[in-house]
Amino acid sequence: MQITKSKALFEKAKQFIPGGVNSPVRAFRAVGGDPLFIKRADGAFIYDEDENSYIELINSWGPMILGHNPPLIREAVIKAMEKGTSFGAPTAHEVEMAELIAKMVPSVEKVRMVNSGTEATMSAIRLARGYTGKDKFIKLEGHYHGHGDSFLISAGSGAITLGSPDSPGVTKGTAKDTLLAPYNNLEAIENLVAIHKGEIAALILEPVPGNMGLVTPAPGYLEGLRKICDKEGILLIFDEVMTGFRLAKGGAQEMYGVTPDLTTLGKIIGGGLPVGAYGGKKEIMDFVSPSGPVYQAGTLSGNPIAMTAGLVMLHHLDENPEVYTRLNAIGSKITTGFQATLDKLGLDYTINHVGSMYSLFFSNHAVTDFESAKKSDTVLFGKYFQAMLKRGIYLAPSQFESLFLSTALSDDLIGKIISANEESLIEIH
Ligand code: PLP
Repeated sequence: MQITKSKALFEKAKQFIPGGVNSPVRAFRAVGGDPLFIKRADGAFIYDEDENSYIELINSWGPMILGHNPPLIREAVIKAMEKGTSFGAPTAHEVEMAELIAKMVPSVEKVRMVNSGTEATMSAIRLARGYTGKDKFIKLEGHYHGHGDSFLISAGSGAITLGSPDSPGVTKGTAKDTLLAPYNNLEAIENLVAIHKGEIAALILEPVPGNMGLVTPAPGYLEGLRKICDKEGILLIFDEVMTGFRLAKGGAQEMYGVTPDLTTLGKIIGGGLPVGAYGGKKEIMDFVSPSGPVYQAGTLSGNPIAMTAGLVMLHHLDENPEVYTRLNAIGSKITTGFQATLDKLGLDYTINHVGSMYSLFFSNHAVTDFESAKKSDTVLFGKYFQAMLKRGIYLAPSQFESLFLSTALSDDLIGKIISANEESLIEIH
């Protein structure tokens, strides 16, 4: 495998872009080596600038649930482009999108489109504060809600990967209103709520966090949060930017049967174009401008090209429930295969898995929260990442990320992934 063009591009990129990348985790800092520059992608494969091909298990960090460059989205986008790329005025697409989201996501009655997951979570917190008249909110350790100031406190994803879960630049004034608690621990929430009685607007969490690696909710945990929030008048916000339309048509809230007050969405909802959304009960959403006083706006919000891609994606998922059967089967096959290899090699690392998301933690302990996730051997993960890459499998370049599987993975490719995993584990031990 020859990698010369990516190296040259990275050298040049570092002259003009901070760290050479437009999103930190892409720089491969946590796994060593230089990042690959991607020229094109198709189905289960991505191709770097040197035309090396890789089976990839990130799928643009989640959106490409049908694999890369699916013809149904590509063709719809090309057609939409012929009518113009942005109008800055209402369109029929936006109405169709809002109606479809309200149909698919159990808690959503009204929804506002934005351009990224970060915008969705920032806006949802502002709305929760405006609606309740309270300033503080609870965030869980290791959860990532984008790069809004008030979320960069004990944050997961690239923030923990790059060693800055509490980013400089976030003022003390901002940080004091973000209350932290560990995931999967109802008692910690009860204590926090008792200390700050009557001061808390919202509790936001990834119902199934994927940004400290994948961690699953303990039985009764999400139901317990719902009860505490109801009792204390706190809005429960599910950040389903990752899990929305992935774990089920209606996301984690459908899978676990717990209904939040507000939901934030992104990734799949844009079919690979930049989109986010936040929605929930009518009564709360009507607090958003212009029907209510909480201001939020966007030049490109509801962009016709992004709406077209998202609508094709969501209609496809809505009309083809077998997609989820296939995704779940792919997730089970890969993780069962990995577990069999661990058993065979006498390794007791932890695999967390739900639906089409999984993480292999280089840890001999159960990973149930941020503290246990951080005990993983990140140096060994780096070696594993490189060993897999050498075998043509492109993973998320961090221990603290989930993998996202797509329907483009055939049984033959799944077999290749399982074999590469075994060879890589043997190589690094
Ligand atoms: N919320 C969650 C759960 C995420 O995983 C992410 C991004 O990965 C975000 C919010 C932020 O989304 P974006 O990167 O589109 O701003």
